[in-house]
Amino acid sequence: MGSSSLFSSLARRLEGKVALITGGASGIGECTAKLFTQHGAKVMIADIQDELGHSVCKDIGPESPSYIHCDVTDENQIQKAIATTVANYGKLDIMFNNAGIIDKPKPRILDNDQSDFEQVLKVNVTGTFLGIKHAARVMIPARQGSIISTCSISSITAGLASHAYTSSKHAILGLTKNTAVELGKFGIRVNCISPYGVVTPMCRKYGTVEDEVLREHLHSVANLKGLILEAEDIAKAALYLSTDDSRYLSGHNLVVDGGFSIVNPSFA
Ligand code: NAD
Repeated sequence: MGSSSLFSSLARRLEGKVALITGGASGIGECTAKLFTQHGAKVMIADIQDELGHSVCKDIGPESPSYIHCDVTDENQIQKAIATTVANYGKLDIMFNNAGIIDKPKPRILDNDQSDFEQVLKVNVTGTFLGIKHAARVMIPARQGSIISTCSISSITAGLASHAYTSSKHAILGLTKNTAVELGKFGIRVNCISPYGVVTPMCRKYGTVEDEVLREHLHSVANLKGLILEAEDIAKAALYLSTDDSRYLSGHNLVVDGGFSIVNPSFA
């Protein structure tokens, strides 16, 4: 392969591929929809924020993604989103289970309500479970596919987020590993990405924190001083897991945290 063809294949890594991105109307999902589209993929965004989802698609430009309303906790809606993607674009190569919510941490277990706990698990875990299940349904006959879920460093650490969020992200990691073991024989890879803090609308949900205060905080506790994690870093990790460059990765948790989770506090 000459250097020019190598360059062109690097330029559009997802030509001919079809991707469905849940939670694609905002933050990490929105950024991934942009990057995947730039790389030639046909993208379907699935979210519950319809106005925002449509405007994100429009902003992306001429090869813009499509949008479908889909609450990931509803099995019928997930099935419909996947069926519509296949009907519109002929197949599904990449399923990005990225939709998620976070709740305000209440450090004392005694202060945590069952209903709040269950809501976080419903969106983060059940939503991911349904996404993997119905993507597998169409990928198994095709004998190929890449399923990626957005996890968190809370999948491998404790005390950074609420009990519900930490539990949900540990569960997504377990689901990723279990389904990777099952689906490998069909040529389907299942991986997840565990980001450190990224300033997105999710982080603003606590209400009082300004973006700059949040960035300052993330900076102050980051391991890689002087660098701040951006949504684009996570989108690039998703791009890697979507292409054959990662063809031997399955059941993997791609931790994108600048080393935050491995730092021993005594070295700080
Ligand atoms: P975000 O709030 O910007 O985006 C999340 C999207 O998910 C929103 O568009 C929202 O409408 C959608 N969503 C929520 N509930 C849904 C449902 N039931 N059905 C369909 N869509 C739904 O947040 P983000 O930071 O981009 O989060 C994306 C993922 O990244 C989440 O899974 C989150 O847990 C994970 N994550 C984020 C961070 C961070 O610091 N931002 C760190 C680690 C992991």
